[in-house]
Amino acid sequence: MLPLTDTVPGGFGLYVHWPFCASKCPYCDFNSHVREGVDQARWRAAMLREMDHFAARVPVGRRLSSVFFGGGTPSLMPPETVAAILERANHHWGITDGVEVTLEANPTSSEAARFAGFRAAGVNRLSMGIQALNDADLKVLGRKHSAGEAMAVIAMAKGIFDRFSFDLIYARPGQTVAAWQDELSQALDMAVGHLSLYQLTIEEGTQFHTLHQRGDLVVPDEDLAGDLYEATQVLLNQAGMPAYEVSNHARPGQESRHNLVYWRYGDYVGIGPGAHGRLTLKGEKTATRTHRAPEIWLQRVEEAGTGAHADERVTPEQRGREALMMGLRLAEGVSLARLTAEAGGVSPVDMAAVDRLSRHGLLTLDGDRLTATADGRQRLNGVLAALLG
Ligand code: SF4
Repeated sequence: MLPLTDTVPGGFGLYVHWPFCASKCPYCDFNSHVREGVDQARWRAAMLREMDHFAARVPVGRRLSSVFFGGGTPSLMPPETVAAILERANHHWGITDGVEVTLEANPTSSEAARFAGFRAAGVNRLSMGIQALNDADLKVLGRKHSAGEAMAVIAMAKGIFDRFSFDLIYARPGQTVAAWQDELSQALDMAVGHLSLYQLTIEEGTQFHTLHQRGDLVVPDEDLAGDLYEATQVLLNQAGMPAYEVSNHARPGQESRHNLVYWRYGDYVGIGPGAHGRLTLKGEKTATRTHRAPEIWLQRVEEAGTGAHADERVTPEQRGREALMMGLRLAEGVSLARLTAEAGGVSPVDMAAVDRLSRHGLLTLDGDRLTATADGRQRLNGVLAALLG
């Protein structure tokens, strides 16, 4: 019989990557692809097969804390595929009532028509990519929905799912602090317990990157972006949804348990094209990664049972660094003793840098707990560079 709770620190999650989208957004550097048609039966069989492959490797007795369908646009999946994947995950690792099952969705009417099917399949949390609440900015972002459609779909989703979140992107071209504050207030009126608020970043290989290089896309400078971040913290704190991570805000208890698995440096299986995983196997942390190209992944799974590349051992030094990089994203911070344990007995943290950064208001150290302040989380790359030497 399976134990009731998972025992490895940080918990255990399953990530399922559905790599297809209706169109490619100009800012997106995710592993997402547009295809004329998808052979659903083949894809469903391949997802199940790759899960079986990993299940045979994960030590017996692990219990899932969460499942996350990400992408791409997993709301384009047939609910039957979602049901089949959850049934198989339940068989391998147990999905009890407390397990969070999240699916990412776009707010179009055709996807909303599947929501009841997803709920019946076992999805208990929806995360919607809204991105903006006005039509002009949605057009700039290349989104296919209108603000009106998004609001109608949010209202509908709230009637189906107990737990519900949506994403907005800020620091958009031409955005002022006042306009963002108005939009956030509107978002807070619709939010239930969780909001993800991401700053627009220009990623290489995207259409926005080309436009930006040419000078045809101007985004807020660092000062304005900082003001937008601060305005976000103030409004969300007032609304009782403080940041529990750099870009994620929740009422207490409504945090995404799946993302907490990543940030608390737990283990997770990743299936589907381009999915990453971290697994503790025979006491060693192991990094897994599958082939990114959908058709190559599919072919490899059909031929060999998985599209995974060779495993990579995460050395103790890397473990300490990874656990620090993840943990400092969280408002709860990270235990120094845990970092030292991950790193094989040697602390990865430069304590002189902790002192210095604390004096600049970027970190706090309370007993064993090292935490980045809101300012520190906004400048996390610089903070980590200083801490890791
Ligand atoms: S819908 Fe999401 S994953 Fe797909 S292209 Fe747009 S941002 Fe990327």
